[in-house]
Amino acid sequence: MKNLFSFLIILLALKNHAQQTDFVDFKHAAAEINIEPDQGSVEGQVIYTFDLLQDTDSIFLDARNMTIERVRLNGRLVNFEYDSMRLIIRQSLNKNKNNSIGIAFKTQPKQAMYFVGWNDDAPNQVWTQGQGKYTSHWLPSIDDMNDKIEFDLMINAPSEYEVIANGKLIRSQNSEIGLRSWFYDMRDPMSSYLLAIVVGKYNKKVVKSESGVPLEMYYYPQDSMKFEPTYRYSRAMFDFLEREIGVSYPWQNYKQIPVHDFLYAGMENTGTTIFSDSFVIDSIGFTDNSYVHVNAHELAHQWFGNLVTEVSGKHHWLQEGFATYYALLAERHLFGNNHFYWKLYESAQQLNQQDINGGSTALLDPNSSSLTFYQKGAWTLYMLRELVGDYAFQTGIINYLEKYAFKNVSTGDFIYEIERVSEQDLTAFTDVWLKQVEFPMERAMDALKHNSTFIQEYLMVDCEVETSKCKDYLLSGISDEAKSKVIAQDPSKITAEVFRSSTKVRQAIAMHLKKIPSDLKSEYETLLKDPSYITIENALFNLWNNFKVGRVEYLKQTEHIHGLHHKNVRLLWLLLAIVTPEFNPDLKESYKNELIDYTAPSYNFELRMNAFQYLEMLKSCNEACLKNLEEAKTHHNWQMVKFAKALLDKTKN
Ligand SMILES: [Zn+2]
Repeated sequence: MKNLFSFLIILLALKNHAQQTDFVDFKHAAAEINIEPDQGSVEGQVIYTFDLLQDTDSIFLDARNMTIERVRLNGRLVNFEYDSMRLIIRQSLNKNKNNSIGIAFKTQPKQAMYFVGWNDDAPNQVWTQGQGKYTSHWLPSIDDMNDKIEFDLMINAPSEYEVIANGKLIRSQNSEIGLRSWFYDMRDPMSSYLLAIVVGKYNKKVVKSESGVPLEMYYYPQDSMKFEPTYRYSRAMFDFLEREIGVSYPWQNYKQIPVHDFLYAGMENTGTTIFSDSFVIDSIGFTDNSYVHVNAHELAHQWFGNLVTEVSGKHHWLQEGFATYYALLAERHLFGNNHFYWKLYESAQQLNQQDINGGSTALLDPNSSSLTFYQKGAWTLYMLRELVGDYAFQTGIINYLEKYAFKNVSTGDFIYEIERVSEQDLTAFTDVWLKQVEFPMERAMDALKHNSTFIQEYLMVDCEVETSKCKDYLLSGISDEAKSKVIAQDPSKITAEVFRSSTKVRQAIAMHLKKIPSDLKSEYETLLKDPSYITIENALFNLWNNFKVGRVEYLKQTEHIHGLHHKNVRLLWLLLAIVTPEFNPDLKESYKNELIDYTAPSYNFELRMNAFQYLEMLKSCNEACLKNLEEAKTHHNWQMVKFAKALLDKTKN
């Protein structure tokens, strides 16, 4: 998963009952799950098959805030204890194999399963998020990620919706009136936090990987034009990662499903990645907010996290560091070495800044920031490969994945495999990269400079050191990144010729050249036609701000552009249209109403937050807007909640 802090919560839960895996091994689950979206409820039954590895006097399952209707042990009804967290069966049981426990349950999950849009005009969906939220909120299960179970799900839901879950769809058929049953079968075991269900209106396209794995890409029926830019390079990245990792993709198929107002960028549920529909973009949006990196990251987790899973949060980098590193390799395959080193350079800068701010931790500290787990983790793998070479690194990875397939791993397991193949003692390496608190910035930068003339050039080009050279730099053949650096350092050196650069450099102009010299006016106006919504948004504002006489013309030119998922261009346009007296004076009210409309629950939370902010600026958050703001405090997405509370506090003061 990307951008997640909450694995810690898993760790805390683990501590309570890590022991059960020592004497009980849950192996298989067959669940029948009835989803009732109108009620926001789920009910059903699940039968677990388990082995007792030792004699015991009790067994338990995690089940949060449920009504437990009955429990059967090996087919017979039994008494149970339930404290709304855990279901316990106290009975003397001897060591033996293939026992079964069946549980009938009902619940209205407060988290981990989300019912979106059933009370408003947002798309009707049900989707789950297990990591950090606990699958046991909607299915009695084992929250301990050290117990891997093969799950087979039969899901009943209203027949007009698609139902997507882990595994292979065996069949789907209409059952009772208005309901449809979906049978999903898994072949191999996984931790329960990786269970996933999505219910919603979707179309899908299926392509096969080079190795024959079905890649199922879901999209909203109205988004067929956005399919290609959204999923661009999916198959190429899949084929690349299978080759690079050297171990076949471990699961039966690979599904990707966008959902509304997701909690994170994406989540790598086994064979079933769920991602935020803010990445569903058109071909212009591809420049600004492509799904490529998240796509590759969640895919890499299918090996690192799902096939081999951390034993505890201390080893979280084995998931996030690896997913980040392999996503970078996939991007290098697509976009080249300069892109790869550039991303490493950027993350080194962030890690160095974290050091300066006093926020650094050792990579093996379970309390590390996401930045540390993801980026320091990726850096560690990059440097390890530099040290041991491609052959030892890749062979070690294959051995590690094969040895621990469908099992749990610690950092020592990984390091051991690399040491064995490389015949190197990695103590000094792990002391620096895994145990040291500070990010080894100097070593990192030395490696980048050694490997990349592109980075050497970027570091050398410095307009603050040699002011006389700024202009020359901008007209020379240096990289877009180096030019953008000069532009940020001294935008006054931009000449008409610099506008004849790439989209990337032109975006830097739009972002940094805020006081536009009148002799650059006509060049600057061409930015309004660039294939980047970020460029257009910045250019529109700067032009409007600099040239009063042109305002009406700029607004006319951009009237029909909406921009990214959160309508960045449209919202700015509405704001400027409202405050420009000479532009369509009769339509001010309708512009204001459109802005207020965007605060409604039917829109995505990023759009709503921006609309609230603009209305606050205009002091125009009326009754309807305030009602929407009040409602936003109960949203399932914490970012929306935090925003709404802060803004309400501000408006009350
Ligand atoms: Zn991740």
